[in-house]
Amino acid sequence: MAAQKKLIIGNWKMNLNVQEASTYLHKLEAAMKVHRDVTVVITPTMLALQPLSLQINRHKLKLAAQNFHWRDFGAITGEVSATQLRGLVTYALVGHSERRHMFGESTKDTREKVQAALRNHITPVLCIGETKAERTNEETNDVLRDQLVGGLANVTSEEVDQVVIAYEPVWAIGTGNNASPHDVEAAILTIRSQIRHLFGRDKAASVTVLYGGSITADSAADYLALRGVDGLLVGGASLKLHEFTSIIEKAHSAAE
Ligand code: PEP
Repeated sequence: MAAQKKLIIGNWKMNLNVQEASTYLHKLEAAMKVHRDVTVVITPTMLALQPLSLQINRHKLKLAAQNFHWRDFGAITGEVSATQLRGLVTYALVGHSERRHMFGESTKDTREKVQAALRNHITPVLCIGETKAERTNEETNDVLRDQLVGGLANVTSEEVDQVVIAYEPVWAIGTGNNASPHDVEAAILTIRSQIRHLFGRDKAASVTVLYGGSITADSAADYLALRGVDGLLVGGASLKLHEFTSIIEKAHSAAE
């Protein structure tokens, strides 16, 4: 199965202005312990990436972008490209459910963004997951396969290890209703078997797969212990210092 090292990504969404983000980063760096077996990533507002990149201790934390445009440059008012983010961030979210559902981001968009991230040396975190209705209609596996096949269509087997997959059931994000560990394990199995189908057995084992959806310090260990889960994508709880540092400690315990 996948490597023991755990990846914890905190998604701050549209919260904290630049000053607040800087203060929170300062507190987080002071409070967190560094573990060689846990990579910790924060995903602040786009505005804060530049100032935080000057402040951040890169031995402790990495930066990620919440979104970007797939073209490298051009007449696209109001957008930021992966080329502009290059060197600033290590990771970038692609196809977060809030982008897919609030902004109509399509599977084709996710495919273009995965490509843009890779050609700009940024690790894309491809977020996939079913809606409540799709789960009720027993379409979860089909949705996961479609979003994977579509998002990874132009990725080579050499590149797939540079992609992170995050299983994020839409109905579990920001709702307090997290998926049961049993359902997460089943979904991760589907994801890895689709990766095997696309890229072979070795890649199915080595690709990094996360779970995200209403994770708290109390629930984190249950998910980190699941077979095939390499880490967590954490929204709301990543804005609470004690919760987030506690999740980092849970990841360290799970990696040992
Ligand atoms: C997310 O934003 O990806 C997320 C999982 O949010 P939350 O933890 O708040 O559900």
